[in-house]
Amino acid sequence: MKRIVLEVVLALAMAGAAAFGYMSWKQAQGSKTEIEELTKASEEAKAKIDEAEKAAKAASDELESLSKEAEAAATKASQFEAAKAGFSAGTTLADLEAAYKKEKNLSPERQIGLATLRMLTKGAEDPATVEAYKKALAMADWGNRKNTICAAQIGLAATGEKVDIMADCLPKGSQMAKEGHGKDDAHAKDDGHGKKEVAAKDDGHGKKDEQAKDDGHGKKDANAKDDGHAADAKDGEKTAEKPADKHATPHWDYVGDMGPARWGKEFPTCGKGKKQSPLDIKGPFVKQMVDLSPAYKPGPLTMLNNGHTIQVNIPAGSKLRIDGVVYDLLQFHFHRPSEEQIDGKPMAMVAHFVHKSAEGKLAVIGVLLKEGNENPNIKTLWSNLPATEGPPVDIPEVTFNPANLLPKELNFWSYEGSLTTPPCTEGVRFFILRTPVNISKEQVNAFPFKLNARPVQPQNNREILIGQAPRDMEWLRNMLAQASQAKAASAEAVEGVENL
Ligand SMILES: [Zn+2]
Repeated sequence: MKRIVLEVVLALAMAGAAAFGYMSWKQAQGSKTEIEELTKASEEAKAKIDEAEKAAKAASDELESLSKEAEAAATKASQFEAAKAGFSAGTTLADLEAAYKKEKNLSPERQIGLATLRMLTKGAEDPATVEAYKKALAMADWGNRKNTICAAQIGLAATGEKVDIMADCLPKGSQMAKEGHGKDDAHAKDDGHGKKEVAAKDDGHGKKDEQAKDDGHGKKDANAKDDGHAADAKDGEKTAEKPADKHATPHWDYVGDMGPARWGKEFPTCGKGKKQSPLDIKGPFVKQMVDLSPAYKPGPLTMLNNGHTIQVNIPAGSKLRIDGVVYDLLQFHFHRPSEEQIDGKPMAMVAHFVHKSAEGKLAVIGVLLKEGNENPNIKTLWSNLPATEGPPVDIPEVTFNPANLLPKELNFWSYEGSLTTPPCTEGVRFFILRTPVNISKEQVNAFPFKLNARPVQPQNNREILIGQAPRDMEWLRNMLAQASQAKAASAEAVEGVENL
């Protein structure tokens, strides 16, 4: 085609020149006296021919460069067409799928790659694309896989599926993109989390307000004054108990006549409740994304031996954010062995971190303590613990940061449960962290309660969720940047091809 254009231009130029020459020749025939003029005219004609030739040359040059571009475009286009053909024929996808098929356990990252290729091949509308992303999402094994989950969520969102994208998946600067986790600001004097204390309208657990009074282990108990866990109920505030009266007539215990099997007599929920804690944690699990962000602060140590456990009361300021809803850390306490069992087995101990939202909703983080090396933070606590039952003891010279007791990884199992002590009030969300922290055998033995764990309770159709609290975002951001570049590039290429 370019050749034709070129020839036409050249032909026109030559024709023009020839016509001019003919006219000049005719004029030359007209009169001898006009020779000078003719000469002049002929010179002019020559100049015009030169000009025409130049124009033709320019035109041809232009055409040539145009044609080079067109060739390059055509090459690109054919490459793109080949790639596109590969995509639309599904060969690329099929190749990749075939390659991946050989792998027993396709990583979620690869599944996402597959889903993305699917999106390129079949388009976002293709149900298989959505399925592929969903599969990637389902495959994400939550163990340090936040970035994968984010990628799948965003990929899924890109296909037009309605997906709630975790706050931490969004670029920095978007709301709540980064708050950090307890461990990260373990030593911060002031982590600036105070402002996060917005009372959320809805934390997804709505009408649990009847719990408002009941944050830990027993405020609802009519006998709260000698229940021992009453202190739990007061936001870490000290209770003025009379130690001498305590357990004169015990209302509940972990063994004997007042043991867990009898709790229901005096505390009906303990016997009749269908969502009781603790649970034996075993699969199948339901995967779920939860943004669990503890932001605990160091503060002066206050400890309590309430006759059932050792409890550390937390001064105001330590927070936990669960999917944007802010909870206050009130206290943490210990059970020996761990109340929760993992596949039928308890750990040496567990620390329960008890939190309450502005709406009165309770959430407990369980940190499993596994026999191993000495735990320096437990050492600090144990060297200050009140060995005998009594009111809270302030140890102002000791600063303690509850975040130090958390493992690095915040992956968890989660379920709806209850207080594990009478009155066994339900509506408590549990997050049992899957990564245990160490405690030495000596430290376990130094805990003043030999047995203070309620037996595991029936699961009763409750789902146990498995999830992970997010951390690293870089991978996802890079992936997203690449994806959007690729998308823009392919859109451009398509446009280029269509315009040819
Ligand atoms: Zn507990």
